[in-house]
Amino acid sequence: MTVHQDIPTIKVRNPRTGAFDYAFHPTSAEQLAETVRAARAAQPAWQALGVEGRIAVISDWKDELERAAPALIDAVTLDTGRLRESVLEAATVSRWIDRWAAAARVAYATQPQATSSPDILSIADFSPYPLVGIISPWNFPLSLSLTEAIPALISGCAVVVKPSEITPRFVAPLTETIARVPALAQVLKYLLGAGDLGEALIDSADMISFTGSTATGRKVAARAGGRFIPCFTELGGKDPAIVLEGADIDRATSAIATGANLATGQQCYSIERIYVHRSLHDEFVAQLVKKVQKIRLAFPTVQDGVIGPLTFAPQADIITRHLDDARTKGARVLTGGTIENLGGGLWIRPTVLTDVDHSMQIMREESFGPLMPVMAFDTLDQAVELANDTPYGLSGAVFGPEDQAIAVARRIDAGGISVNDAGIAPFFIADASAAEKTSFKCSGLGGSRLGPDSIKRFVRKRAVLVSRAKGASPWWFDV
Ligand code: NAD
Repeated sequence: MTVHQDIPTIKVRNPRTGAFDYAFHPTSAEQLAETVRAARAAQPAWQALGVEGRIAVISDWKDELERAAPALIDAVTLDTGRLRESVLEAATVSRWIDRWAAAARVAYATQPQATSSPDILSIADFSPYPLVGIISPWNFPLSLSLTEAIPALISGCAVVVKPSEITPRFVAPLTETIARVPALAQVLKYLLGAGDLGEALIDSADMISFTGSTATGRKVAARAGGRFIPCFTELGGKDPAIVLEGADIDRATSAIATGANLATGQQCYSIERIYVHRSLHDEFVAQLVKKVQKIRLAFPTVQDGVIGPLTFAPQADIITRHLDDARTKGARVLTGGTIENLGGGLWIRPTVLTDVDHSMQIMREESFGPLMPVMAFDTLDQAVELANDTPYGLSGAVFGPEDQAIAVARRIDAGGISVNDAGIAPFFIADASAAEKTSFKCSGLGGSRLGPDSIKRFVRKRAVLVSRAKGASPWWFDV
């Protein structure tokens, strides 16, 4: 691809050093148009391979991905500043390929069906959206750029991905793996650029899958709506955890210590608010504090601990604003609580707060950091009301005696509720054995990434209705 020198280079910050040590030339409008034209031209042959043919090609690619895992992990580690999750991302992609392949074999294997009308047979047929555009965020750059690309490809679509401009380093080793599988390289393209390229992709695609913030998701959905193309959005969250009377505090604190701090809290499914029955509150806080104090920063090297730096520097300002607002309104900060500059990177240790309430930004806005504000409740109704007092509805967690916890889970306005664990819904992406979920409220629009029918989001459904009647059909004119 020719580089357009007239477009300004985008400089990329290294989250561990703060240095802008990487740069790329964003894709121009002409390059996007050419890429889309080529992908569209290749899509019919890709579709013609059939499900098994496409799975065979993608399985070859899986081998390439596994061979390139060290290079991919190195690049994602540079992008995000953390090792543990980068290893997880690379492993997850391989697992998703197998799962989506299994899901496709079931979803797209159809048999003609008898209908309620004895002479008419129904044949389910599926027509892939020819060109799917994928726009992805920086928090899990590799896996979230592929979580929708894999099922779209297996469904027969061509795919153009615009990953986040904040974390572009993984794209070079990834595109090398794609180039080694020529049949795939025709229909899977990565283009680097910022929001303007995302907008241009929406204007070029037949369907959009967007993962990112609610603020951008609104713009993306509106633009796609203007073009009358489907748009699936998976957006921000402010996930609550409720700890009921009778809960196992040791289990709840261990699960939340992980569910709130994994990826330094920079995950949409992070626990960001904790409501604990008043009778357990003090013991819960004491155990949580003890456990999170054992969680170490991955500093000075990536191997040293499990908490990486903040990947996106402006996130530090949001976290600081939430903490300042909470302190001003009377919150007590028991651990962490300050952004530290270590070696040029911005870090924050797991932060437990008490004496919080819903007048505070920390209980209402997405923080995207390792913040654990804990609030006591007295009644179940109060706990549910507090959990639902949010514009978001991505997921949540309930701890307690199982029947009671499930009953509370059913009352939470969110799509993925973990009972006696935290943040487990994403482990079931592409898993046909899990129930489907949708995002509630401002956490997204569109169908599920879980469950047996999730792959069918990438196809139009066609009913072929075959009449085998020998004589006149009863609804015909008498002609
Ligand atoms: P973001 O919304 O800032 O950016 C996401 C992507 O959108 C980037 O690729 C960006 O370049 C692009 N973009 C920006 N403006 C655009 C426009 N006008 N049109 C089209 N594309 C545009 O999000 P982020 O900061 O990269 O990611 C963090 C957010 O993502 C958090 O809110 C987090 O909760 C959310 N997230 C949600 C999920 C989920 O599955 N629900 C998963 C991961 C992250």
